[in-house]
Amino acid sequence: MLEGKTAFVTGGSRGIGRAIAVALAKNGATVIINYCGSFEAAKETEEIIKNNGGMAYLLQGDVASSSDVERMFAWIAENVKRLDILVNNAGITRDNLILKMTDEEYSQVIDTNLKGVFYCLKHASRVMLKQRYGKIINISSISGIHGNPGQVNYSAAKAGVIGMTKTLARELSSRNINVNAIAPGYINTDMTVHLKEEIKAKALETIPLKRFGEGEDIAEAVVFLASDKASYITGQVLSVDGGMGI
Ligand code: NAP
Repeated sequence: MLEGKTAFVTGGSRGIGRAIAVALAKNGATVIINYCGSFEAAKETEEIIKNNGGMAYLLQGDVASSSDVERMFAWIAENVKRLDILVNNAGITRDNLILKMTDEEYSQVIDTNLKGVFYCLKHASRVMLKQRYGKIINISSISGIHGNPGQVNYSAAKAGVIGMTKTLARELSSRNINVNAIAPGYINTDMTVHLKEEIKAKALETIPLKRFGEGEDIAEAVVFLASDKASYITGQVLSVDGGMGI
C-alpha cells in the first residue's frame, strides 16, 4: 500500500512510535526512525523492520531543538531526497496538579510535544509543498480533547497539536497534502506502565471496549491515514481509544 513512499517517524525507538514505524515499513514504506536518547531501542526497531524485509534508517535528534530538527531534515534532503509521510509521534509527560506543577515541567512538555511538532511541520511542509504530495499525521491525545487532571501542560500541548492540524490542513490542501491527527486513549507503553494500579483500574472502567490499547491499534490507523485510501480526509482528529471519549 505504501511502496515507494518515504516516512519520517519521530520517537520511533519505543512504544507507539515503534509500532507505527514497523507497520509503515510492513506496508512498503522506507522508514526514517527518529530517536532522542534510546539508541539501543531504536536499533531494535530498525532490526525488526529489516528482519521483516523492510527498509529503515536511524536518525538521532531532539525534536525540542530547532537546530536538531533542521539537521535531521537536511540529512533527509541529502540522503533520502523525498518525504511522503511525516508522523509527529515523539512525546513526554511531566504530570502534576497545577499548584505543584513547576515552570520547568510545563515548559519541557510544551517544548517537546508542541514546539517539536511545529519545527517538524515547518520543515516537512517545505518539502511536501515542492513535491505537491504529502501525508502528515500528528499524534495528539484524548487528554487534548477532554482534559485530564494532572496534565495541564500535556493537555495544552495536545490541544495545540489539534489546532495546528486543522490550520495546516487548510494551508496545505491545495498542494495535495493531507494533515490529520490521531487521539489515542490509554495505550500500553512505557508512558503508562508506571501509573498506579488504582489509576489503571479506574481508567479501565471508563473504556467501553474493556481493554487498554496497544501500539498496533494506533499504527493501523496511521497506515490508513498515510495511504491514498484516505486521500479525501484532512483536518480530522481520529480517536483511537476503545470508546473512552464517547
Ligand atoms: P513512550 O513509550 O514514552 O515513547 C516516547 C517516544 O518519544 C520515545 O521513542 C522517545 O525517544 C521519544 N521522544 C521523547 N522525547 C523526545 C524528543 N525530545 N525528541 C525525539 N524523540 C523524543 O511514549 P508512547 O506512549 O509511545 O507515546 C507516543 C506518543 O503517543 C506521544 O506523543 C504521546 O503523548 C502519545 N500518546 C500516548 C498515549 C499512551 O497512553 N501511551 C496516549 C495518548 C497519546 P527516546 O526514548 O529515544 O528518547
